[in-house]
This record gives sequence, structure tokens and C-alpha cells, in this order.
Amino acid sequence: MASKPTTSSKATKAAAGKSAAKKSTSKKMAPRKAAPKKTASRKRTPKQAALKKSTSSKRTTPKTQSTPKTKSARISKAELDARQGVIATALKMSVTGLSPGRSGNVSCRWNDGMLITPSGMPYEQIKSADIVFVDGNGQVGPRAKKPSSEWRFHLSAYKARPDMNAVVHTHSLHAVVLACAHKPIPAFHYMVALAGGDHIPLIPYAPFGTEKLADYVAVGISQIDACLMANHGQIALGKSLEQALELAQEIEIMAQQYVKVLTLGLPRLLRRREMQDVLERIKTYGQHAQKT
Ligand SMILES: [Zn+2]
Repeated sequence: MASKPTTSSKATKAAAGKSAAKKSTSKKMAPRKAAPKKTASRKRTPKQAALKKSTSSKRTTPKTQSTPKTKSARISKAELDARQGVIATALKMSVTGLSPGRSGNVSCRWNDGMLITPSGMPYEQIKSADIVFVDGNGQVGPRAKKPSSEWRFHLSAYKARPDMNAVVHTHSLHAVVLACAHKPIPAFHYMVALAGGDHIPLIPYAPFGTEKLADYVAVGISQIDACLMANHGQIALGKSLEQALELAQEIEIMAQQYVKVLTLGLPRLLRRREMQDVLERIKTYGQHAQKT
């Protein structure tokens, strides 16, 4: 790893925090309204710009840093814990059936970037050293593994939501079913408020691994902690890896329930004021109690 995080990181402490504060906004998402911020990867130094020229714009892996190697590749205890947390979350995602095949990926915020699962490796085989640090400019160290092909939207999610520290992305069955039918999850059940809004939105389709998809994700999760991704899957954010995984599981359960409800016809949806009430109550509910 060329870029070494410091031994103590506020981000890691925040990522490991147990706070389960939830956003209580009920504002609806406004897709495409506000253009997502350009990722920092577009701010290139002359050296980076030169490197960019020599690479394809359709590149799906981050640039490898051309800077000299650091003196030591030693990983701090804090970073090791964070890497193992990513692996543990990926494994849980797998054993709970949330990620059929090798679909899905997990990351946590780290320094100005993130630690993310590598591309194409079975979760059971991933070791701490295989977890990839992608910095805020989308760069990886010279000896790092190739990160998940979806690293771009993980990074854009962290930039769009500085209050979040972990991202779980899955192709869980029922979330995919709704995403392929282009059906967001409305307020058919009060539990949709768990994501912080009065429905689970659907972002438009864009090919995997692209800046376009990263931009859609940034807008999609700007005001809510999870969304469906058209013809793809779902993404869930959390203050910690545990929270992100738990929300992804809740989204899958709600998707399953909503698919079942639709077989009986259209449900009677909760009204706006009813969901407002739920969103207020959920702030002080159980472990999701919001610290104010
Ligand atoms: Zn995916």
C-alpha cells in the first residue's frame, strides 16, 4: 500500500461507533435535480492528468499511484480492525443469502477514501491484506488488489454523505425483482422509515462501474440511507458496517413483503402525515434512537 493511513483515525472511530442515528427527513428524493458533486478524481494534478491521458476513459479500476512506495507497508491496528470489519460484513452478507453468487460489495470510510472488498474474490478467501484502500481521488496503492468494480459509487456515496461511514451493496433477490420492474418501495409499511424517508426510492439504470452510476447513487442517497438501483440491486448506508448491513437486510425484507402484497393488488399506502409521525417516533425507537 503506498498510501498509509495514520494510526488513529476519527473516521474509523466514527465507523466503529454504535450510534444508530437516523436521518428523519421525509423530503422526497429529487433525482437529477441537484447534480452530484464531481468526485475529487476529476481534480487532477498535471501529473495525474498526464496519467489520465494514457489511460482509457472507460477504465473500470482506479489508477495505481505512481508515487514512490512508502517506507513501510505495515498496517496499523485500527486499519487492521477496519479491514477485518469489512470482511466480516461481507461474510455475513453471504451467509444470510443477501448476496447471491459473488454479487455485492462492502466498504467502510477510511481517511479521505475507503477500504473496499476486492474484485472477484470469494468472501471466504479474502484476507485483510486483500481489502483495497481507495483514496479520495480514486487511486490505489501499486501493490493493492483490484477493488470491486463498483468502487466508484461507493466513493461517491461517501462524498455525498459525510455523515455515513459504511456502504453495503447487494443483488438481494427481492430488491432486484423490484429494481428490474422499476418499482420503488412506497409507504406500504411503516418500516420503510428505517431508511430515513417515507419511501425507498429507485435510481435510474446506468452500467455497472461507471461514473454515471456513481452520479445516480450520489443523488439517490443524498437524503435517504438506502435506495434501489434500476435493473441492478440495492445500496444501503450506515454509520457503521453493522448498521449498513442491517439496513440492507431490512430493505430486502421489505422488498419481499412488497412483492407479496402486490400479488393481492395495490396496497393502501400510509399517508404523508402518518409517515411523518413514524419518522418522528423512530428517532427515539430502540437502538435506532437518534442522539440529539
Ligand atoms: Zn452490483
